[in-house]
Amino acid sequence: MTDTTFASLPLAAPIQRALEEKGYTTPSPIQAKAIPVLLEGRDLLACAQTGTGKTAAFALPTLDYFANNPRKPFRRGVRCLILTPTRELAVQVMQSFETYGKYINLRMGMVFGGVSEKPQIKSLYQGLDVLVATTGRLLDLHQQGHIDLSQVDTFILDEADRMLDMGFIRDIRKIAAAIPQSRQTLLFSATMAPEITKLANSLLNDPAEIRIAPQGTTAEKIEQGVCFIDKGNKQKLLIDLLESRKQEHQTELSLIFSRTKHGAKNLAKKLNSIGIKADSIHGNKSQSARQKTLDQFKQGQIPVLVATDVAARGIDVKNITLVINFDLPMESDAYVHRIGRTARAGESGRALSFCSLEEVALLREVEKLIKKQVPVERKHRYHAEAIQALHESGARVEKPKQGGGGQRRGGGGGQGRSGPPRGKGGNQGGPRSGGNRNFRGKSSGSASNSSNSAGSNSGGNPRPQRRNAGRRKTSNP
Ligand code: AMP
Repeated sequence: MTDTTFASLPLAAPIQRALEEKGYTTPSPIQAKAIPVLLEGRDLLACAQTGTGKTAAFALPTLDYFANNPRKPFRRGVRCLILTPTRELAVQVMQSFETYGKYINLRMGMVFGGVSEKPQIKSLYQGLDVLVATTGRLLDLHQQGHIDLSQVDTFILDEADRMLDMGFIRDIRKIAAAIPQSRQTLLFSATMAPEITKLANSLLNDPAEIRIAPQGTTAEKIEQGVCFIDKGNKQKLLIDLLESRKQEHQTELSLIFSRTKHGAKNLAKKLNSIGIKADSIHGNKSQSARQKTLDQFKQGQIPVLVATDVAARGIDVKNITLVINFDLPMESDAYVHRIGRTARAGESGRALSFCSLEEVALLREVEKLIKKQVPVERKHRYHAEAIQALHESGARVEKPKQGGGGQRRGGGGGQGRSGPPRGKGGNQGGPRSGGNRNFRGKSSGSASNSSNSAGSNSGGNPRPQRRNAGRRKTSNP
């Protein structure tokens, strides 16, 4: 946390009130750095892991803009568009907007795959101030004419690195092409891989740059460990660990990562069969089933959750004190995301990785990324000295094959996108809603100050000119 307080930041009164109610007094480092530049209307490129408070870092200034610039969105129109890699993260982001924006009269909605389009289409009809979306469903609905993106003036990409990992780069570009150029754009990513920099260069305009943790740095408060173990013993060690935890840490939650959907399902089944209450969350489950499981986990009704990477991306549950990498991830970045599920909001936590002979190369990649060696955990019955020796020898080892039990990139069903895959033709370069129809309804916007509670900003006067004043030609009708 920082020396600044929320009360000292020029955020509108309704937001301050919501923050007070939530009990947040001090901004996290990313919030302290990002909020002032975003309030100035600048674009932002932020490198920050989950758990740093990045959602409020973009939600608070966005809500402040709405509080100070109330106007009705046009029919099917969207004012602020937030893209997330998964449905779970979309839900988390929406919950944050609802929490911090509870005293601002706003219309907000979500679109993502795996559930019926109808209620989403209905919510879009009236227009939305804030839309949180995954890319596939958003493009489907846009192509069908249910969304008008021509009045988006705030465009936020959350966990952009993950979206690229999942292969959504082309979708992102299509969406960006359908949004007016004169907008404020924010890009959040846990890592700054070269592809992210390239994407940022093409989407952002002279952005402020904030790096909260150097690339790949793992949260300091997480106690990490690696168990060298034969593949066939992994389940037994997991059971040992969970059994002893059941006695000592009854109310704490454990999150287990499996590389495959089947692995996750079977592991949860096995744990239940021996009396450890567990469930799984993966891309083969329907959205409502995933949400239900997640809610039960949050409430502690299910103390153990087995998840795949994609499904776990949006998990923001405070009381997870143990993360176990039952399988090491194929992509080392995922390690940082996985273990970041514990030690949320400044709490401490433990992350244990099981490393079999086949996974030595993966562990080396992780250690290269986090720039340190993961301490070896030997205090268990299955310690495999030979695997540790191989790891430490530095001898060449092959990475396991992606296909054989590894999870296909993006194959976790993050979005459950309906319809056939889009070919190159699609709407690329020619968005239906017409990029050059920017702010087509500016006169109607000025007429509709429907948000009654929104105008009461702390500074008194609304600040309509602040954001992108130089770039946004028609933002102040
Ligand atoms: P995020 O990185 O956005 O996923 O946030 C991580 C967690 O930190 C969430 O549970 C937030 O509710 C919580 N959080 C965010 N900002 C603050 C703050 N300033 N003070 C305390 N908790 C916070």
